[in-house]
Order: sequence, then structure tokens, then C-alpha cells
Amino acid sequence: MKNAISGIHHITALASDPQRNLDFYVRVLGLRMVKQTVNFDLPDVYHFYYGDEVGTPGTLLTFFPFPGAGRGKRGIGEVSSVAFSVPPAGREYWIGRLAQHGIPFDGPLERFDDELIAFHDPDGMQLELVFIESAESGQIWKDGPVPVEFALRRFHGVTLTLGILQPTASLLTDTMGFRILHPNGDFVRFLAGTGNGQAAVDICIRPTLPPARQSAGSVHHIAWRVPDDSTHRLWQKKIADTGLPVTEIVDRQYFHSIYYNEPGGVLFEIATDPPGFLIDESKGQLGTRLKLPPWLEPQRKLSEQLLPPVSLPGISLATIHEPQEQG
Ligand code: ZN
Repeated sequence: MKNAISGIHHITALASDPQRNLDFYVRVLGLRMVKQTVNFDLPDVYHFYYGDEVGTPGTLLTFFPFPGAGRGKRGIGEVSSVAFSVPPAGREYWIGRLAQHGIPFDGPLERFDDELIAFHDPDGMQLELVFIESAESGQIWKDGPVPVEFALRRFHGVTLTLGILQPTASLLTDTMGFRILHPNGDFVRFLAGTGNGQAAVDICIRPTLPPARQSAGSVHHIAWRVPDDSTHRLWQKKIADTGLPVTEIVDRQYFHSIYYNEPGGVLFEIATDPPGFLIDESKGQLGTRLKLPPWLEPQRKLSEQLLPPVSLPGISLATIHEPQEQG
């Protein structure tokens, strides 16, 4: 469909301890830290971007870590699970890897004929690995701790837990161009985007749950992707035309953004693919030092004083052996 959303751009969540978050996503899950920056609206809080080798939209999971933050409470009006696709050959590998890192998991489970395992990050955020050949593998990080053939590929999709289906379903299908599939158990699946960017959006209706309360371990928002700035402006108008309040276009340095709340309470963003993560660092240097946008550069000293120091597994990361090889 012309001007339909082309898939997920990034997903942003809240964490507590920055080093623990970094260690989990880089050392255990094998995502690459592609940008180490600050929350542009709170420059004393980190913003970590994890993704594939170059931060391809559709692979980007990002965090605002607030040291000492308590855990969020699950409920309605939030993204309750984030799923990555992994080639089916990686099933035994990941079951073994999670077990060796002492991470409890559920599964293998089945949903919409896909096999998956579910577990939680150190702050209690639910993650899933769906064992499926994804249409496109992005650019896998070759120097990471996970063998390339088993590496997380890209987002398979998300689960939204909501109180009622209809208002959100209408927005997704009528406005955003998602396709709806038949319900499967507790879930109704929507497909966002097409081809390489396609992502599953599963809605789980739980009318008796209280509203979610966001803190560490909660997804803060989900960003959908569009290819360029002119399409982005069309989307701003299209969302405004539905009657939902939508923000001005915000410069996020690596992409441009608009934000709006969908009727079920989940914060949505629409972000542009360009300019991307190579705008201020070379491919080899991505994520290795604190980057600030030009307008925050004058405050660099202050940010560096306020941010807790973290150490990124660097060159040595490639030499961290798999747990089974250490014994
Ligand atoms: Zn965002």
C-alpha cells in the first residue's frame, strides 16, 4: 500500500542499572551497541542503542537507564513483549545459552505456528526469540559474542496488552495500513509493513488488568519507520487528520520523529530511516564513545560528570568465549 508504514524502526524501553543493561544486551544477547548517547530531553540520562552492525531500522532496541529505578508494573496500555527472529537452526543454541547464563525461560511455545521461547531481561522486560527464517537479515554484527549463524536477526514483532481491541485495531488497519490476521487464542495479529520490513503486532486483550505503570523493564514507546522526510510530513498530517494529537517533527539526530498516543494508551512514534547512525561515527567506531548532538555538545562536561561510567566490551568482546567453551 502506498504510504503504508514500512515496519518497526526502533523500540525504546526503560532500565535501571546501565552497565547491567549493556552487559545483558551486548554480552548475552549479542546485539551491538551502535550508539552511546543521552536522552536528548534529559541529558543526564543515557540513551543506549543496540542493533545489528550498523543500526539498521527494524533491529534497534534502545534504553533509557535510570540507576536505582524500581520495576514497572505490567498492565494494559503498553508493549508487553518484544520478539526477535532467530534462524530455526539457533533453537538449541539459545536454549543452551540462556540456561548457561542462568536465565529462566518458557518454551518452546507455539503462537501462529511459530516456535518461540520467552524470557525476561534483568529489569523484567519480556523478550521472545521466534525461530523463523526472516526475509532479510540486516547486517549481522560479525565481531559479537554470538556466532553469526545464530545471531538475533531483527524484530519479529511486539505484543501490545490492551483493555479493548477496536479503537487500536481501527487505527492500525484504517490509518496505518496494517493487515489483520485471524485471532489465535488470546492474540489478534496484525502485520506491519511488507517484505523485508514486515513485523507482527500481536494484540492481547486483558480487560480486567489495571493500567500499566512504567518504570524499569517497561517499554516506553514503539517507533514505526518511514523512508524519508517527505513521507514523514505526510504521516504527521495523516495522524492529525484522525483527530489524535501529534507532536511537531523532532530532530533526533539519527532520525526525525513525531509522537502520538494510540487510543489504547501506547506511545507511538514515526521515525525516518535517514540519516542513520553513521552520521557522526564510522562503522568501526559505532557505540564506542559518548556522542552528543551539536546542540548538547556545549554541555558535554556536565553530562559526563553526571552519567555513571560504563565499560563497553570492546575489541576484547570477540574473544569472550561461549560459556560451553570455557569449561
Ligand atoms: Zn523513539
